Amino acid sequence: MLWGRQTYRWSDLDFEANAKDGSGIDWPLRYKEIASWYDYVEKFIGVSGSIENLPQLPDGQFQPPMEMNIVEKDVAARIKKEYNDTRRMIIGRCAHITESLPGRTKCQYRAKCELGCPYGGYFSTQSSTLPAAVKTGNLTLRP
Ligand code: SF4
Repeated sequence: MLWGRQTYRWSDLDFEANAKDGSGIDWPLRYKEIASWYDYVEKFIGVSGSIENLPQLPDGQFQPPMEMNIVEKDVAARIKKEYNDTRRMIIGRCAHITESLPGRTKCQYRAKCELGCPYGGYFSTQSSTLPAAVKTGNLTLRP
């Protein structure tokens, strides 16, 4: 299982899917009940992405999207045209910041993420949740 910090909202297409299919147990909530929590988390962890107005993939509190490369831009434009905008290739929505946050510097695009990020460019416990916990004064770190 690989997260790769790809961070997408579910829509009611997902929350209602098993109820409609008649399999498994229906989710106990729907999108509108969880949307404000998506807002909260996205702002806290920092998620970059594009606004697309797709009902099946709700937009969020995104930082500016990363830029597609020249080939991706061309493929995306061709898909959009060929399928009359019913199919779309979009940039990933990922927990890499494109604007710096307090205590974190925006991604430097060095592709060294597997070594850990000294800038806090991607969301991690070390860059985000532990510093926030320290700030509360309720955290004691013991070696
Ligand atoms: S290591 Fe940090 S700065 Fe470098 S590409 Fe990964 S997230 Fe960006």
